[in-house]
Amino acid sequence: MTIRTRFAPSPTGYLHVGGARTALFSYLFARRHGGRFILRIEDTDLERSTAESVNAILEGMAWLGLEYDEGPFYQTHRFDRYNQVIDELLAKGLAYRCDCPKERLDAMREEQMAAKLKPRYDGLCRHRDLDPSQPHVIRFRNPDTGQVVVDDLIRGRMAFDNRELDDLIIRRSDGAPTYNLTVVVDDADMAITHVIRGDDHINNTPRQINILRALGKEPPHYAHVPMILGDDGSRLSKRHGAVSVVAYRDQGYLPEALLNYLVRLGWSHRDREIFSLEEMVELFDIGQVNKAAAAFNTDKLDWLNQHYIQHADPRRIAHLLRPHLGDLGIDPAEGADLTAVVAAQAARAKTLVELARISAFVYRDFEDYEEGAAKKHLRPVAAEPLERLRDRLDMLALADWEPVTLEHTVHRVAEELGLNLGKVAQPLRVAVVGRAASPGLDITLSLVGKEATLRRIDRALAYIRQGSAGV
Ligand code: GLU
Repeated sequence: MTIRTRFAPSPTGYLHVGGARTALFSYLFARRHGGRFILRIEDTDLERSTAESVNAILEGMAWLGLEYDEGPFYQTHRFDRYNQVIDELLAKGLAYRCDCPKERLDAMREEQMAAKLKPRYDGLCRHRDLDPSQPHVIRFRNPDTGQVVVDDLIRGRMAFDNRELDDLIIRRSDGAPTYNLTVVVDDADMAITHVIRGDDHINNTPRQINILRALGKEPPHYAHVPMILGDDGSRLSKRHGAVSVVAYRDQGYLPEALLNYLVRLGWSHRDREIFSLEEMVELFDIGQVNKAAAAFNTDKLDWLNQHYIQHADPRRIAHLLRPHLGDLGIDPAEGADLTAVVAAQAARAKTLVELARISAFVYRDFEDYEEGAAKKHLRPVAAEPLERLRDRLDMLALADWEPVTLEHTVHRVAEELGLNLGKVAQPLRVAVVGRAASPGLDITLSLVGKEATLRRIDRALAYIRQGSAGV
């Protein structure tokens, strides 16, 4: 038997991290077992579904690299098929027309609630033979007795009494089929073997199984994935910061970091933290997914992102970094080779946005000194070493503007002045970078270039003079 899984989002918003994790688990389970992964867009809610949202889902899936083997299938293209199935159920007496007015249903619900009963339709129309030309809905004839037992791959065994389940509406009075019906028809027609989805659908599962059985189909296996919580313990939502997958891209996360983060939310393999997508495919086991909800932890995501930025091919990171530099108004074509900048800086940034921010100094003069750094390192005592450095660096030919020569020059100035290296190097670093942290000065100066280095030393000297003039 070929394993077939699906991801079935409703296009009523962006692809959020919870949905992406469900998609990832479905994808991994299919790949792990040599199966097929299907994308199905559940767009029957015409009022809430939008083309932009479909696109946001496709964009998120593409960015994460979650390739589907079939689809996207759109439920709105399958209305004829749903109606055919509904007619079949009607013909077999497994569904019936109901014209109970809203007032009757409301009154019934109130009575049941007052009696502390679970509200459900009382089945009045089951045996009435209604005129199909008059307005009506169609209800599924749920079995009255027995239990539906679900052996969930994550939650274990769950049993539901049929007595508790409703004769649910499968076609509305406007002719539109409802969610539980369309899912069942699609899961059956698409030969889905494993339904992996959010645990907010648990209550739909026994209803869907009953409809499947009425259609003479064997139900698939189910795995209900627990939800993701924010770090304050409430359900993850926009309030907790970025939730849309594409927003993580825009904030400078790498897709492999987000995937690695999401797979570890509720799943583990020994004490291992780092998994490439191939490794996840090899090791993922749906039976090991935790039943309890997992809390989103941005620090951990940052840690993984930093790991991947540092270990990825710097050429690829350079490529991904360009738009983030663009956001700062920087075109790296005019300046040092971006790959070299990435190689020098990758260990220092948690996101590509941060990498762009801390690398901007290579391409343009910074606006202000970092306050503490200037106070500490651009004091009157720094004037002499900076002047000497300026002289020596100015004497270097452009061809000698290389890390080895630059390092040698800085060391020589420190020796000549009888100062320890820090007293020379730190003022120079703050002068050129604006901050006290940067890669080695040799690399830093070579990336910044001669002209900008000298200009910034002049600026630092002016800053020192101005400061001491005021004292
Ligand atoms: N369309 C449903 C949703 O977005 C998922 C249905 C399912 O996976 O069965 O919540």
